[in-house]
Amino acid sequence: MFPLTEENKHVAQLLFGTGTCPRCIFRFCGVDFHAPYKHSYEELLNDIQKFLKDELILEVPNPPLKKIRLQELEDGIDNPSQNGENKISVIEDGSIASPNSNLNVNVCNVCLGILQEFCEKEFIKKVCQKVEASGFEFTNLVFSVSFPPQLSVREHAAWLLVKQEMGKQSLSLGRNDIVQLKEAYKWITYPLFSEELGVPIDGKSLFEVSVVFAHPETVGDCHFLGKILPDCFKPAQNKQSVFTRMAVMKALNKIKEEDFRKQFPCPPNSPKAVCTVLEIECAHGAVFVAGRYNKYSRNLSQTPWIIDGERKLESSVEELISDHLLTVFKAESFNFSFSGREDVDVRTLGNGRPFAIELVNPHRVHFTSQEIKELQQKINKSSNKIQVRDLQLVSREAIGHMKEGEEEKTKTYSALIWTNKVIQKKDIEFLNDIKVV
Ligand SMILES: [Zn+2]
Repeated sequence: MFPLTEENKHVAQLLFGTGTCPRCIFRFCGVDFHAPYKHSYEELLNDIQKFLKDELILEVPNPPLKKIRLQELEDGIDNPSQNGENKISVIEDGSIASPNSNLNVNVCNVCLGILQEFCEKEFIKKVCQKVEASGFEFTNLVFSVSFPPQLSVREHAAWLLVKQEMGKQSLSLGRNDIVQLKEAYKWITYPLFSEELGVPIDGKSLFEVSVVFAHPETVGDCHFLGKILPDCFKPAQNKQSVFTRMAVMKALNKIKEEDFRKQFPCPPNSPKAVCTVLEIECAHGAVFVAGRYNKYSRNLSQTPWIIDGERKLESSVEELISDHLLTVFKAESFNFSFSGREDVDVRTLGNGRPFAIELVNPHRVHFTSQEIKELQQKINKSSNKIQVRDLQLVSREAIGHMKEGEEEKTKTYSALIWTNKVIQKKDIEFLNDIKVV
């Protein structure tokens, strides 16, 4: 069902006439149920035109222009690629470009195409292909999206415009009355991702897919804020630009309405091209494996022994264990931790010393207990210098427990002593009386 009513007509007309897309119009009209956003873009465009048609042609201040725009959309003059093919292409370096997208529809002056082609099935499919090609094992996923900061500036400008229009009808529009772009994007794309990949979207998932959008054409949109409110834009380490989303938001909360209006067009002007996809990244949160090891060699260090770039010993306990785990979990890197340490020439006997390893960005994470057992056997067969037991997948918290245990545990040392005089009973008593501090 079409969600707008007579009440929304003025606002819808104003926004549509200034180059705003149907979904952004819904957002500014406070449509907060998901269904209307999920219709195809063509359908929405059709519906909104039908909704506005008569009045749009009669009432707009600049009729010829609007007529042309509507006519174009109806006739598809500016839509040479009707079948939608080649709209988005994955290029060699893995980024996604949409070179012809601006020919298909007028690019929305508020969302810069985010709620246009970037929520269509075709784009979702391209992202999913990248996810599948990444080779990660996952049973659910969390999706994160990053929009260019100037979108907030454009959103602000559109808000001021609509607020003014509603004010004429003695109506008010708070910033929170508008449906957030991110929310609407989620409503549309989450079900599509879930369906395409066959797994649920779950905020707690360790597997994250992130998409970063940019819009080079309008990067300058934020710059005036830096001149008016320099305090909001302090250079920070690791940030390429001072115009981060957070800083822009902060400045928009501070700036006076009249100052903003003087500096930035309300409505925002129409861009030529839609956003570009800067990157699509997949990453899996770390998994942890723990166990105990015995060391039988008096010529093996616990961690790689390298001095001034020169390796002193061929291998180490850490390497003998982690090499296998890294391969099997297809992880990017690892962090090893031991409960205590021993010297190169000391053996570790008894039940063995606890260890844990954090496997960073693992591509494979699901193992049966049988597979873990086989992995342990593989490690044990590969060297007679160490043996591993109780190998198991553990939680991050368990690593903390191992480190705590390091403080409390008791250790037993055996030592064989040579002396040049015969040991008497009183010598043993003397030794026993020594208290360890
Ligand atoms: Zn839009």
